[in-house]
Amino acid sequence: MLASSTRQRVLFGAGVRKQLAQEVRALGCTRALILSTPPQSSSALDTAADLNGLSAGVFSRAAMHTPVSVTEEAIQHARDVGADCVVAIGGGSTTGLGKAIALRTDLPQIVIPTTYAGSEATPILGQTENGLKTTITDPKVLPEIILYDPELVATLPVGMTVTSALNAMAHAAEALYARDRDDQTTTLAVDGLRAFAEALPQVLRDPENLAAREDTLKGAWACGAVLGQVGMALHHKLCHTLGGTFDLPHAETHAIILPHAVDFNAQAVPALLTPVSDVLDGSPPGHALWTFARDMGAPMALKDLGLQERDLDRATEIALSKPYWNPRDITADGIRALLQNAWAGTAPEK
Ligand code: NAD
Repeated sequence: MLASSTRQRVLFGAGVRKQLAQEVRALGCTRALILSTPPQSSSALDTAADLNGLSAGVFSRAAMHTPVSVTEEAIQHARDVGADCVVAIGGGSTTGLGKAIALRTDLPQIVIPTTYAGSEATPILGQTENGLKTTITDPKVLPEIILYDPELVATLPVGMTVTSALNAMAHAAEALYARDRDDQTTTLAVDGLRAFAEALPQVLRDPENLAAREDTLKGAWACGAVLGQVGMALHHKLCHTLGGTFDLPHAETHAIILPHAVDFNAQAVPALLTPVSDVLDGSPPGHALWTFARDMGAPMALKDLGLQERDLDRATEIALSKPYWNPRDITADGIRALLQNAWAGTAPEK
């Protein structure tokens, strides 16, 4: 594994979250506001209790897609309680709230991730206002400190463990052919893919295997870090379209689209995607990812997420409406065929 970015402090280990008070003090802070989603409020309360006098309380209303209205409410709350830093404990939604607060207030952030989404390692923030999702990249939103504690991710239900892992692997797979890649980002991407290829099966055999959970968190960090360093292409754009227009769930959509998007691009850049085959079963990259996802029990077909077959034409149109760079030319026929396979759950060719 490569050393962590010089711009973030990144710690791994069972129980490392207990070091939070020390990290808050090291930032020069004394009043940390703990953030979470409503279902994770008890973890947030435990975290606040661990902080003793350094906690300024808990704000447990983080929500999917980081609505600006929730951010404004959280900022008002942070002001009312005199918070001088935020601690996000949760997945990408909670991390998103911490980032949105930091963007507007410059408060330093500590993230304690409980999924593999990887947002904690990027300077990217997606937020929604009046039903519109916008994404910005700003160094201000990159969290200062990440505490990766496998004891917390061990509570992630098995289904979410798998889809969240495939969501992370998607960042790494697309980084392999990113236009602005370099040898460092490729190494990071391969590290991330290998960590999940090796540790995810162990986690599924024993979800409380903390050593394997820690290895998956190292994968999440590598995949998140590389997402923050290079541009994404077809896979992420398609997932954004499907999520935004058809309200499909984030991690599941990534899990289903990934083998098909990789299979599509492998036709143009097979050599760049060889590492995907190498860390999995040696078959062509799209097929290898499809087999891995199936063996891990992932959802395999968009139709099972409720997408109607008649929506595929509209999805194709939207996917083509805003041009972006991709290693293979994006054509209506190509995307329509890709989406048909993803909708039906058909295996890419071996
Ligand atoms: P999430 O944060 O929305 O969490 C989903 C649900 O799982 C929530 O109810 C949460 O409370 C619960 N949960 C999380 N961890 C748990 C655990 N260990 N045990 C039990 N329940 C748990 O889901 P996510 O997939 O982590 O994040 C998705 C969001 O993150 C999307 O909005 C996506 O756009 C964003 N994201 C942003 C970036 C970025 O760089 N900006 C990167 C990746 C994802």
